[in-house]
Amino acid sequence: MTVDARPGKVRERTCIGCRKRDSPSGLLRMTVSERQVLPDPEHRAPGRGAHLHPVTECLDLAERRKAFPRAFKVQGPLDAAAVRNWIEGSGAEQRSSAIGKESAATRPPAAVEGSSRRHEGGSSTHDHSMSVER
Ligand SMILES: [Zn+2]
Repeated sequence: MTVDARPGKVRERTCIGCRKRDSPSGLLRMTVSERQVLPDPEHRAPGRGAHLHPVTECLDLAERRKAFPRAFKVQGPLDAAAVRNWIEGSGAEQRSSAIGKESAATRPPAAVEGSSRRHEGGSSTHDHSMSVER
């Protein structure tokens, strides 16, 4: 990552799908664990992270470009199914402008591995059991 090493600039991150920069709040952080790319919407997972707009368009682009192995600096391929589930299941409402298919939005988000996160009716206030500030 080169974007966040620059002093005096807004700390933007690059979407690994469309390669556009955005503020971290507009991007989904992801981490990798055992060949699985996992969504990290609360920015609390340790280790190397990559960022993606939480839309299927950018996920498709990232997969097509094999951007995940590059972003995480591992030998591919990686399984991004958990990220896809997260985007299609719960992230879709926030970014309706870029959503192409709506049929997948009803899929239950239960497939996300190690999930303790949930979405409550689109509310932006989250109940942090432990408040982690960086
Ligand atoms: Zn993007």
